[in-house]
Amino acid sequence: MTDPRALLAAVLMTAAASGATPVGVSAEQTPGVVILSPYRSLLGANARPRLLPHPGVDIAAPAGTPVLAAADGIVTPLIDFEPGCGVGVILAHPAFKHWTAYCHMTRTLVANGQTVSRGEPIGLSGTSGNSASIPHVHLELCTRPCASHRDGDLAGTQNPLAVVVGCYDPERTYPINRLVLTWPLPCRGGTVDANR
Ligand SMILES: [Zn+2]
Repeated sequence: MTDPRALLAAVLMTAAASGATPVGVSAEQTPGVVILSPYRSLLGANARPRLLPHPGVDIAAPAGTPVLAAADGIVTPLIDFEPGCGVGVILAHPAFKHWTAYCHMTRTLVANGQTVSRGEPIGLSGTSGNSASIPHVHLELCTRPCASHRDGDLAGTQNPLAVVVGCYDPERTYPINRLVLTWPLPCRGGTVDANR
């Protein structure tokens, strides 16, 4: 079996070489965040072709990295579905009639129905589900409870990066009249920091 760390290193090098930058978020803003597979991409987190477009965004995250709530929300529900999302969390954002999904965790750190705040750890990253053995967070933004997370099933999904405003910063005040997301991984000064 291929070592997931070696695979991730290879993919990160490929991503760096291709100059892949997040859509809707400037590279200067978050230079350490590596997007392995953008929304609607026909390439997987492992840089191999997908048959159908990607309904979310894949963000590189060494296994065990805390996965952070991208906005205030309510856990509805936890997911444990090996063929798809794997171990994951769906957060409802009722004020904005949107949901976010976080997939491929090693485990969750929250309970069904729990209220969480932006930046709060909701799980640990990993390779559960259809992660192509590349540790990453699949982030999905939906206008109804995110469901299948399957390639090609884009109904009710939107590009999360269109509303990502950068790393979570506890000092910052975020708008309350519209949904904005922060990166679902710890990052500081624009760099993902897996030890934080
Ligand atoms: Zn994905």
